[in-house]
Amino acid sequence: MNTDCLPDGDDRKQDRKNDAEILLLDDEPLLLRVLALALNACGYRSITSCANAADALLRLDDAALPPIELIFCDLNMPGMDGVQFVRALGERGWQGSLVLISGEERRTVDTVARLASAHRLDLLGQMPKPVVRAQLVELLERWRTRQPAPGPGAQAGEVEPGELRRALAAGEFVNVYQPKMAFAGGGIEGVEALVRWQHPVAGIIYPDRFIGVAERHGLIDALTQAVCARALADASDWQRQGLGLSVAINVSMDSLRDLDFPERIAAEVRRAAFNPAQLVLELTESRLPPNPVVLLDTLTRLRLKRYRLSIDDFGTGYSTLAQLRDIPFDELKIDRGFVHRAHADPARGAILAASLGMAHQLGLRTVAEGIEDAADWQHVQRLGCDLGQGYHIARPMPPAALPAWVAARNLSGQAR
Ligand code: C2E
Ligand code: CA
Ligand code: CA
Repeated sequence: MNTDCLPDGDDRKQDRKNDAEILLLDDEPLLLRVLALALNACGYRSITSCANAADALLRLDDAALPPIELIFCDLNMPGMDGVQFVRALGERGWQGSLVLISGEERRTVDTVARLASAHRLDLLGQMPKPVVRAQLVELLERWRTRQPAPGPGAQAGEVEPGELRRALAAGEFVNVYQPKMAFAGGGIEGVEALVRWQHPVAGIIYPDRFIGVAERHGLIDALTQAVCARALADASDWQRQGLGLSVAINVSMDSLRDLDFPERIAAEVRRAAFNPAQLVLELTESRLPPNPVVLLDTLTRLRLKRYRLSIDDFGTGYSTLAQLRDIPFDELKIDRGFVHRAHADPARGAILAASLGMAHQLGLRTVAEGIEDAADWQHVQRLGCDLGQGYHIARPMPPAALPAWVAARNLSGQAR
C-alpha cells in the first residue's frame, strides 16, 4: 500500500473565536492603531502591536504567553524586513495564518507570498495600504471558516520529544521513496528517501511534525542514521533485483555541525557494501544558519568520500551564490515553490530559468521538485532541467512497490 495515500486524519474545521491571539507588525504607529481599532470593532480583543520584527519574534517565542494564531505583517520595515520575518516564521515552523500588508507594488508582494508558501506558511491573504475595512472583514471571515491549508502531509502540532525518543529506540520509522525522472528519455535515475513515522496508535505521522523537534532536541543525527541505514538496505535489495538506482537521503544542516558525521555515514555505507557514488546527500537547511567553516570542513570530507552533495529547496533559505561557488555541490534541487505553475507566472518562471542557467554554468546537475502536472513537466523540460520529481511522475511509495513501478514504466515507455 502506498502510505502516502493515507489521509492526514485531521480534517476538523477550526472554529476561530474572537479570543484568538493576533499580532500586528508595522513600523507605522498610525497603521497599527487603525488596524487594532478595526479588529476591535470586529470583536477581536487580544491584539499585540509591534513596531519592529525583533519584538514580534520575542512575543512569538515567549512560551509563557498564549500562541499567536494570526499575524498581519508589513513588508517594508527598517531593521529586519518582512522577507526576513517570513523566513524566521518558517524556521520556527509557525502554524498560524499570515496576512501581508504592504504599499509595495503587486509583484513584490506576490514574490513574498511565494516565499511564504515555500516556507510552508499558511498565507491567508494580502492587503494593500491603506487598509480598507471591508477587505479586512472579508479576510477575517475567510479565516474563521476555513481550514488551515496544510503542506504535503502536514498535520497541525508537533510531537513530544520524549515520544520521538521512544519511537527511535523502538524502530518505528520507515522510508518511502519518490523517483527522480530524467527529462531527456524518461529514465528513472534514482529515488529520494522520505521518512514516515509509523505510530502504533496515531498511524502515519509526516516529517513536518517531527523533523523540527528532532533538530531542537538533539535527535536528528540518530534519525538520519536510521533513515540512511534503511535506504542503503532497500537500495541493496533493489540492486539484487537488477535495479541499480541512486538513493538520496535528507540531511539537516544541524547534523553537519558535528565533525564526526561523515565517519558515521561512511560506517553505514561500508556495512551495506554500497557504492558511495550512488548515495546522494540532500542538504536541507535547519533553523540556524550554518557555521561556514565547520560546514566547509564536513562537506568537503563528504565529497572526498565520493558521496554526491545536493542543495535542497534552492531559493528558499540561506543558500547563497557564494556557497554554491565555494562548496563542492554536485546537484541543485529547485524548490517546488518556484516550479509548480512557473509557466503561468512570469516572476516564478524567471527565478526558475535563472536558477537552472546558473546551475548549469557551475556544472551542477539540476532537479526540479513539485512537477505536479503535464504543463509543469513540459515547461521545465523546455528550460533544460536534468531531472524531475513530483506527483505527476509518482507519489512517494514503499520500498517493495518500487521495482514493479519502474518495470511498468519502462514497459509503457511513457513519454511525458
Ligand atoms: P523535501 O526534501 O523538499 O521533500 C519533498 C516533499 O515534497 C515530500 O514531503 C514529498 O512528499 C513532497 N512532494 C513530492 N512531490 C510533490 C509534488 O508534486 N507536489 C507537492 N506539493 N509536494 C510534493 P514530505 O515527505 O512530507 O517531506 C517534507 C520534508 O521533510 C522534506 O521536504 C524534507 O525537508 C523533510 N524530510 C523528509 N524526510 C526526512 C529525513 O529523513 N531527514 C530530514 N532531515 N528531513 C526529512
Ligand atoms: Ca529533499
Ligand atoms: Ca524541497
